[in-house]
Amino acid sequence: MSLVRASFIDGSWREGTSATEVVVDDVTDGSELGRYRAAGAQDAADAVECARAAFAPWAATPVAERAALLRRTADVLEGHVEEIAQTAAREIGTPVAQGRVRHGDLAIAVLRDNADQIERLAWEERLGNSLVLREPAGVAVAITAWNFPIYQLCTKVVPALAAGCTVVVKPSELTPLTAVVFVEALVEAGLPAGVANLVIGTGPEVGEALVAHPAVDVVSFTGSTATGVRISQVAAPGVKRVALELGGKSACVLLEDAALDVAVPRFLLGWLNNSGQACAALSRLIVPRSRLAEVEAALLAGLADLRLGDPREEDAVIGPMVSEVQRARVTGYIRTGIEEGARLLTGGPDRPEGFASGHYVRPTVFSDVTSRMTIAQDEIFGPVACVIPVDSDDEAVAVANDTRYGLSGSVWSASPERALAVARRMRTGQVGVNGGAWNIQAPFGGYRHSGIGREGGRYGLDEYLEIKAVQL
Ligand code: NAD
Repeated sequence: MSLVRASFIDGSWREGTSATEVVVDDVTDGSELGRYRAAGAQDAADAVECARAAFAPWAATPVAERAALLRRTADVLEGHVEEIAQTAAREIGTPVAQGRVRHGDLAIAVLRDNADQIERLAWEERLGNSLVLREPAGVAVAITAWNFPIYQLCTKVVPALAAGCTVVVKPSELTPLTAVVFVEALVEAGLPAGVANLVIGTGPEVGEALVAHPAVDVVSFTGSTATGVRISQVAAPGVKRVALELGGKSACVLLEDAALDVAVPRFLLGWLNNSGQACAALSRLIVPRSRLAEVEAALLAGLADLRLGDPREEDAVIGPMVSEVQRARVTGYIRTGIEEGARLLTGGPDRPEGFASGHYVRPTVFSDVTSRMTIAQDEIFGPVACVIPVDSDDEAVAVANDTRYGLSGSVWSASPERALAVARRMRTGQVGVNGGAWNIQAPFGGYRHSGIGREGGRYGLDEYLEIKAVQL
């Protein structure tokens, strides 16, 4: 495991200049995994100025060359998938089998897809007597969360570079190690100095300095809704373009005729993705009251097959939380659910048996939850699910929409038309019908408090492009 130097600016690694020293802990036992001096406000300013100086030549680099850089980076990363998965297991707690796919393979797929997208994009279009031009928007700042660090970096840095923007990226200070692997891959692939810069430090110190900097044109953020609001405020005086990928409280809706033998196991995987530490995690299960007992039995049977374990073990499906702070937050919500009168079907706030250390939480399912309970409204970001019984499709839709968030969701029915009709009524950015697969080219983003803007494929590029009309 390499120790981190907190900044990569103008093509070279530097020590951070902040007074803050950050310790990255090994989530499996709480021991120290790495330690670094964080980047400070001066590093942020240096990085932005460097990105500004590199903008004009990068924006003028032919699309084919930009696409080639992204493809070479994907090729380099292919050789690092195992390292990424093993690092993520200790840094975040993602079980390695999931990490290879969701941290490694997905990042590579985003690189290759963006290379294809810019080769297909209509950079210029005729519209009557106008010529409509798409141009890179300028210097982009990317600020990301800890739960899918390398993938989130890719969903911002890659379309930005593809569009012709230069970038300064600030990953979460809690999970810097996979970000370093990503930047090293870009460099090995031939990234010109200054085009992508990295600063690893805390949000209030480095994050705000980046967002406020007058030379920044675009801010793309993934993280909590509270931080997204703060970033919008800091960016507003500079009239910057801001894209926000925020929290969620997504619902899986089982209609009366749903095939439970398929739907419940799939719900469990959607809920327990990254041990529940996923913005799009399905944390509410909306169930016809007539089938509640059957669903509860299927949940208990399905959970018994999913092993909680050390994330470095191949058969672990559920790992620990990212930090002790997060463990305390999740178990606090479990206590709140009990106090509010939800029925504890399985799990609870105590440590799982056999896990005296590490940030492990017992996978917990509450039943007979109502929409007014805190656990049905707040994003818990851990392995805690709420089963909410309802009496009709209309009530299922109303409950699914009874949240300030709107990021993801799913619907199950023996009738695809009935499921699609419900999906259309859900106020959320993505919905899976009968287990429809994740598509990296589909737009991903939130309604309401889940965010502004869309990432993914063609839609993700738009955040980094200006549109100019030339009248002829
Ligand atoms: P967070 O908001 O605490 O931090 C996210 C990032 O913002 C970190 O890099 C942090 O250092 C930085 N930051 C904090 N304060 C800042 C400030 N004042 N100015 C600038 N930057 C600042 O979120 P987190 O705890 O890292 O991640 C969990 C949250 O992220 C959850 O709410 C989750 O739903 C959300 N999330 C959303 C998506 C999505 O795509 N919608 C994906 C993953 C996670």
